[in-house]
Amino acid sequence: MGILKNIADIIFPPACLGCEEILAREEDKYFCPDCRRQIRFLTGSICPICGITFFDSPAESHLCGNCIEQKPFFSLARAVAAYENVMLEAIQKFKYGRDLSTGSHLASFMADFPFPDFDCRAYDMIVPVPLHIKKLRQRGFNQAVILAQALKKKWRMPLTYFLLKRAKFTLTQTGLKKKEREGNIKGAFAVSDEKAAEGKNIILVDDVFTTGATVNECARTLRRAGAKEIAVLTLARVI
Ligand SMILES: [Zn+2]
Ligand SMILES: [Zn+2]
Repeated sequence: MGILKNIADIIFPPACLGCEEILAREEDKYFCPDCRRQIRFLTGSICPICGITFFDSPAESHLCGNCIEQKPFFSLARAVAAYENVMLEAIQKFKYGRDLSTGSHLASFMADFPFPDFDCRAYDMIVPVPLHIKKLRQRGFNQAVILAQALKKKWRMPLTYFLLKRAKFTLTQTGLKKKEREGNIKGAFAVSDEKAAEGKNIILVDDVFTTGATVNECARTLRRAGAKEIAVLTLARVI
């Protein structure tokens, strides 16, 4: 395996997911040092529920205003990095440019990240946020599934592709405010097999956490079907 990987690296040397420059140094994985410097990782002082990072405050972790005002249906949400600069560009290239090679590298990058205060062993299965069939046909793949597959491989746990399904077609959430997003997404999901969800701790996976309306609606749907705890993991988060 080691030899095969070395040969593959010579034929297809790994390139930076940001600027596409060849990564020459052994210690550079996924991003070159310049691009890596642009990434704001979401660690340090965070909200223990939604995981938002208080970049300006060195204080200990504490609940954020949103989570105090309205406790989400998930028990924790964590993301790798802020959705900006090279992270935004790489994710858009994957999703809208349909670049599956970038997608699978981003997925490994996500699986390598030590999500703060999260232990995969506390969970029973991974569930990707589903795309509506119309969107899926348009794009050809569900980006959440690609990310979830890397986590499944890393943590050796079941990935339940179709536990959640889209119950209705919703307009794009882009450009909508938090309350509008919540209204737009309400009732958008259904659980295909309630028995499979009952009493389970579930890791919900998506690419970007924007206001959290989509993953919160997924978590609400899973909890109504009897799921116990929901953790949300995303590659990036709008800050
Ligand atoms: Zn780069
Ligand atoms: Zn919070």
